[in-house]
Amino acid sequence: MEQERQFSADQLNRYSRHIMLSQVGKKGQAKLLDARVLLIGAGGLGSPAAFYLAAAGVGTLGVVDSDVVDVTNLQRQILHTTADVGRPKVESAKATIEGLNPDVKVEAHRIRLGPENVGELFSKYDVICDGADNFATRYLINDAAWFAGKPVVHGSIFQFEGQATVIAPHLGGPCYRCLYPEQPPEDLAPG
Ligand SMILES: [Zn+2]
Repeated sequence: MEQERQFSADQLNRYSRHIMLSQVGKKGQAKLLDARVLLIGAGGLGSPAAFYLAAAGVGTLGVVDSDVVDVTNLQRQILHTTADVGRPKVESAKATIEGLNPDVKVEAHRIRLGPENVGELFSKYDVICDGADNFATRYLINDAAWFAGKPVVHGSIFQFEGQATVIAPHLGGPCYRCLYPEQPPEDLAPG
């Protein structure tokens, strides 16, 4: 028999608006707290995604980013503040996320995602959140997630247009290569 999770008084307050939803409840909140999500990129897409996941109480967030914060990032990359300029993005992301919700553990990966590290990294998470800013990384994420059998929540933006989709070929849908068999020219993917 499954043991029901014990919530602290602080947690019952913090998540009360989730717990009162019959579709979430204590059982759903316990699932969120046990979940592990890997965010590729702590930039324009990764920032709001990570911030909301942390607010909701997703218990472990992995953040992959090799960059440091630049002042031009701050108009949209809401994990980072003026005082963080020059600091590694994974460090400011960790500080902001843990400041928002102390229940959330941030695993900072200050690396560039590559064929040599992607397999082991993906094996440790339940869901991959793709906020990458280049096509080569998107194909790498797709292929590694395909082999690992992990769903990818994919987002992309350009100026006033945005796209979001879930790629889960192991559940019967298309993969990223089915949707976009050929890599578009690099100048169509401004950073
Ligand atoms: Zn495919």
